[in-house]
Amino acid sequence: MPSGRCRVLGAAGRAAQSSADAPAALTRLRAQALEMAREEALVDAAWCYRIVPLDSPPGTWLNAGGVSLHAPRLLPESGRLTALACAVCTIGPALERRVRALFEQRRASLAIALDRLGNEALFETARRVQDRIALAAARDGLSIAGELRPGDPGLDTSAQSPVLQLADAMRIGCRVNEGGLLVPLKSTSIVLGVGIDLPAVEWSRCDPCPSRDRCRIAARRSPRSGAAAAAAPTP
Ligand code: SF4
Repeated sequence: MPSGRCRVLGAAGRAAQSSADAPAALTRLRAQALEMAREEALVDAAWCYRIVPLDSPPGTWLNAGGVSLHAPRLLPESGRLTALACAVCTIGPALERRVRALFEQRRASLAIALDRLGNEALFETARRVQDRIALAAARDGLSIAGELRPGDPGLDTSAQSPVLQLADAMRIGCRVNEGGLLVPLKSTSIVLGVGIDLPAVEWSRCDPCPSRDRCRIAARRSPRSGAAAAAAPTP
């Protein structure tokens, strides 16, 4: 059951500072947030995943590891879906606590900059775990296709608990609270289809997102092609 920790602040910081057209004040705030995150060790990135074989032939409900997910979008047009890859990533609780404290201190601009840096760090962690899943699947002669997260169109938020269960997310200290939110808040869970000769999907979880036009992360996504593109992560 693979899991691990990674250092993502450098990559996240570079991403956060890379907008050439960002106003100088914003750039300064990002640099301040990055320095704060480094000095106070606010990012503790961890990931885990499991590739869980399907218990029964795939249908609109996918049964794996004793749970059922209603995720018909993952059904491939060709090839054979044989398993689900369930992953969970987090950057830990320290950054969200610091963001709250900054808001309480009425330092909202810095709080927002730090929060965005946390999103970038989580994005980077998700990218890395999806790369690992793609490699692990390829080693077994399998491909991956499609990416859903609980709450996306095509995967209800009620899937959060089963996905965490399949990923065995307690290993990295992630859980779902009574309100259905992930704890720590800066965490994300991901489901990918795994199988034999799966074609690249023509959809992205970003397609229906109202933030797509102004989303820097979506802008950084590479064009979709094959398994690597299917694994392109989003927060
Ligand atoms: S457009 Fe941005 S915010 Fe919306 S789902 Fe994609 S990465 Fe997430």
